[in-house]
Amino acid sequence: MDDCLFCKIVAKEIPSKMIYEDDEIFAFYDIAPKAPVHFLVIPKKHFTHLMEIEEGDSALMGKLLFHGQRLAKELGLEESGARFVLNCKEEAGQTVWHIHLHILGGRPLSWPPG
Ligand code: AMP
Ligand code: ZN
Repeated sequence: MDDCLFCKIVAKEIPSKMIYEDDEIFAFYDIAPKAPVHFLVIPKKHFTHLMEIEEGDSALMGKLLFHGQRLAKELGLEESGARFVLNCKEEAGQTVWHIHLHILGGRPLSWPPG
């Protein structure tokens, strides 16, 4: 999508601290980390938010989770655990309009969110 920040990151038109990419997904560090480890995993295909996902996208979304946990382990979070978050639309706090899975860890995280 032309005017999407994360599509531009995927296309490397905007720099990011990339952790992993393959033909379908892209992982990179959050620019404003909320925990000692905070990175995002996104589909390369543009989806504005989770409510757009259809059954045919299930494998792709599963892949986000798989690689999110794989990278979390590589980054030292296997023992302590991590928070896997997907903010969907305004009330949930979504601010970037391309689906992204947050992975946060490295400190205790409170629950429930405010
Ligand atoms: P959300 O509020 O769930 O939509 O999360 C958007 C996240 O994207 C926030 O945690 C931002 O810090 C992060 N973010 C915004 N711009 C960039 C960027 N250029 N590179 C990396 N992360 C970004
Ligand atoms: Zn996009």
